[in-house]
Amino acid sequence: MKQECKRCLLLESAEGGMLESIKEKIDKLSPEEKCESEVYNERLKKCKSCDNLISGVCMKCGCYVEFRAAFKKQKCPNVSDRKW
Ligand code: SF4
Repeated sequence: MKQECKRCLLLESAEGGMLESIKEKIDKLSPEEKCESEVYNERLKKCKSCDNLISGVCMKCGCYVEFRAAFKKQKCPNVSDRKW
């Protein structure tokens, strides 16, 4: 049985295949859609310290944070404590 990894990104978990798929999707985003890499890394840093992150998935929205965070226009979905 696979264990949930609290506060892990896909990058750090065994979900390597999913991470590759997400990276391919991110690569296809236009510059207008995709956020700067510094912003992306800062967002993921905040997700890593968030109780809502489990095995790369945000429990507030069900998204893989490594994908959601790549979009310029996306926000942290936690309206009561928005971290980014
Ligand atoms: S609630 Fe916000 S900071 Fe927490 S995991 Fe989800 S997107 Fe990241």
